[in-house]
Amino acid sequence: MLAEHGEERTAEVGETLFQIGDESYPFMAIIEGEVTVLDGAGREIVRHGASGFLGEMNLLTGQTVFLTAVVTQPMRYIAVDRGVLRRLLFEDGSLSDLLLTAFVERRELLQQWDGIGVEIIGPLESSDTRRLLDFARRLRLPYTWITPEESREAAVLIEQLDTADIPLVRLPGGGELRGPTNGELSRALGIGLELAQREEVDLLVIGGGPAGLGAAVYGASEGLDTLVIESSVVGGQAGSSRRIENYLGFPAGISGTELTSRAVTQARKFGARTATPYRARALEPDGERHLVKLEGGNEVAARAVVLATGAEYRRLPVEDLDRYEGVSVFYAAGPPEAQLCGAQRVGVIGGGNSAAQAAVWLARGGALVTLLHRRGDLRETMSSYLIDELERYGVAVRDRSEVSGLHGEEGRLETVTLTDGTKLPFSFLFLFLGAVPCTDWLGDVVARDADGFILTGADAGADGLLETSMPGVYAAGDVRAGSIKRCATAVGEGATVVRFVHEHLTPVAPHGKRR
Ligand SMILES: Cc1cc2nc3c(=O)[nH]c(=O)nc-3n(C[C@H](O)[C@H](O)[C@H](O)COP(=O)(O)OP(=O)(O)OC[C@H]3O[C@@H](n4cnc5c(N)ncnc54)[C@H](O)[C@@H]3O)c2cc1C
Repeated sequence: MLAEHGEERTAEVGETLFQIGDESYPFMAIIEGEVTVLDGAGREIVRHGASGFLGEMNLLTGQTVFLTAVVTQPMRYIAVDRGVLRRLLFEDGSLSDLLLTAFVERRELLQQWDGIGVEIIGPLESSDTRRLLDFARRLRLPYTWITPEESREAAVLIEQLDTADIPLVRLPGGGELRGPTNGELSRALGIGLELAQREEVDLLVIGGGPAGLGAAVYGASEGLDTLVIESSVVGGQAGSSRRIENYLGFPAGISGTELTSRAVTQARKFGARTATPYRARALEPDGERHLVKLEGGNEVAARAVVLATGAEYRRLPVEDLDRYEGVSVFYAAGPPEAQLCGAQRVGVIGGGNSAAQAAVWLARGGALVTLLHRRGDLRETMSSYLIDELERYGVAVRDRSEVSGLHGEEGRLETVTLTDGTKLPFSFLFLFLGAVPCTDWLGDVVARDADGFILTGADAGADGLLETSMPGVYAAGDVRAGSIKRCATAVGEGATVVRFVHEHLTPVAPHGKRR
């Protein structure tokens, strides 16, 4: 099947098939021969032979190449252009299953390999350095962080730079950026769609989590010109989940990364556009088209707007938390964190299912994990199957425990103090303290409840179930007051909201037919 859509090629020993810094490369399925994949220092990461294939997530995201592939035995292979491959993934379920799973797993392994991807050079004290590290982590970008303390060369470089130019970012294959925004880094790496200064669409979806992607798939598949904007990385909270066990149709569970890759591929298949990172800053309602202003100055005029901005993790109310964040305090536990925490004492704070999933994941990676929560009994807040898993993987549980202080040097945690004065020797802390809605930017434009969640339906004085107090503006997923905070319900609301959008855009004529 690949041969029908690609081109058969040969390559001699020593030939380079792609190298670090290339803008793109085709997908390559090997018929015979062998190829080695190398990092920037020339170290071998893997060899692929007959029936294997070359490629990873950047074939889908557009990210520039950060590895080199050199032929080690004469090769015959099929090269399939990246655009054609994407189309095949829409059309062939089994190929799509095989490749998406392999690409996601390869990216996870590469994230654990030192010395590949971008180099971020900056000190811990620099908030822009910490911002970029957080962004790279969320983007699942392989990166190396170099601090002035650990490298003489970095110390000299940083000393010569103005604060606004920190961090210094070195791109794979050459080129550097000084103090880039998240958007500038994305563009430099070829990731994500760049918006025109002003866009006009039928449906603007704000937020690229499960609800937003659900709305995008249904909106675009039902013929609406649909744009999704996402302030950081598509996937939302679900994207940071190690394994979603209760999502219908995936009896063995599915990782947040894979669910997101599949959803984005599906949204693209129907023609929805997804632009990142673009943060909505203001919503100015208007009869015909609502105007949404984005950080950075872009504007989108949309006939209907779906607010799917979800919620953000709550932070711990302790001093100096930001000095530890991203170094030894985290809000998600993925492969790089599991590797970092192997054989270390780790605290996971929170009594919900997401805390349990992280604790189990870290314990399976070899960490000595204690889960701390406020209440007297975990069963009040956690699913029983996860309580069993905690026991199975040797996670210690401390009831009625709240952290009041963090202690350590240079962002590296050594101990935490609890409100009762107990000191616990943790090197890493993971926080799962629930979430607050991302709605501050909306001001009074739509009605919200006392906690900031968006009111819809009768509570907002609106006709439609998911319509806000502003006609033509809808809310779906965790951001909506009264929503069930689950992946499946967020996707379901995203799908449902499109029905109301259609009703808004095609009002019923007096004789009962849609105009
Ligand atoms: C670690 C973890 C594990 C979980 N595990 C499970 C599970 O196993 N099963 C389950 O059912 N649920 C699980 N959940 C809950 C589930 O992920 C959420 O209910 C779901 O993601 C909500 O989807 P959403 O699209 O409404 O919001 P979100 O997922 O919060 O997505 C909202 C998106 O909007 C973006 N955004 C915010 N503000 C702006 C703005 N101004 N402009 C542009 N974009 C913006 C955010 O960056 C984010 O990407 C888990 C959650 C977490 C954190």
